[in-house]
Amino acid sequence: MKCRVCRGKAAIKIRRHNAAFCPEHFTAHAVRQVEKAIKDFDMVTFEDRLLLGVSGGKDSLAMWDILTRLGYSVDGVYLELGIGGELSEEEGHAYSDVSRQYCESFASDRGLKLEIIDLSTRYGFTIPEAATETRRVPCSVCGLSKRYILNQAALDGEYDALVMGHNLDDEAATLMGNVLQWNTEYIGRQHPVLPASGNGLIRKVKPLIRLAERETAAYCILNGIDYEVEECPMVEGNTGIKMKEWLNELEERAPGAKHRFLFGYLENAADRFSSEQPHLTTCQSCGQPTIGETCAFCRLEIRMKA
Ligand code: SF4
Ligand SMILES: [Zn+2]
Ligand SMILES: [Zn+2]
Repeated sequence: MKCRVCRGKAAIKIRRHNAAFCPEHFTAHAVRQVEKAIKDFDMVTFEDRLLLGVSGGKDSLAMWDILTRLGYSVDGVYLELGIGGELSEEEGHAYSDVSRQYCESFASDRGLKLEIIDLSTRYGFTIPEAATETRRVPCSVCGLSKRYILNQAALDGEYDALVMGHNLDDEAATLMGNVLQWNTEYIGRQHPVLPASGNGLIRKVKPLIRLAERETAAYCILNGIDYEVEECPMVEGNTGIKMKEWLNELEERAPGAKHRFLFGYLENAADRFSSEQPHLTTCQSCGQPTIGETCAFCRLEIRMKA
């Protein structure tokens, strides 16, 4: 297997591009994919101050690395969720602690600014506690909390946009899940750029959507970026994982299927669903957008305090 560019020994093959790359040219390819996503969807400019939600995993750290390489000004924010679980006998730390350490090392090695928000200290509960109290799947309360708190952090820091490290697999799996349910409101909201709204929503962008999960992992390994490889111990019940498995089977038989599914939707059908989005008003308690009087996060917070 030879690199498409230099004919040297290839380190990774990408079937959907029918190409293989050596470490140097794979890195250049990955950076170009992010550059193209930003340009095609008019995501951000070099003048924008960006805030990136980092989890310590491969996607968000690869995203941070690529965006800084491209010359964007990006600060990171890590949300300490209070998720436990023994990782290994040597380390023995809770999942959240280890994830945070990867983010801290990445930021300090490169002189980047990282804000840590502790869910428990600031809001009085952890994800495991909220999942037990509400009897909801942990990922459901976790997703709700992350969306809310990251948006608030970007507003508080007066950033121009919030960057999320969602990759091609994540976005294709979300779309697949919503299409299988014909959940048109959610389909209407799925786009690589969600504009700011006057009532407290910051612009949200996803520049990693042209890179698949195995490519962000390869990017980190080939560029010496240490990341959390263990899966979150609370992942059970996450429907996205099933969708990813199905899409991987499809991709195996038809390379490029994931990309065609997601980008075909964005090019041909996204406009048809954009009017399906619900009318948002302002939460009477916190000022963030909501469809009711009080937003879902404030309701969760009130319940956890009771
Ligand atoms: S797997 Fe679920 S609970 Fe764990 S960090 Fe991700 S969204 Fe949160
Ligand atoms: Zn090469
Ligand atoms: Zn609220």
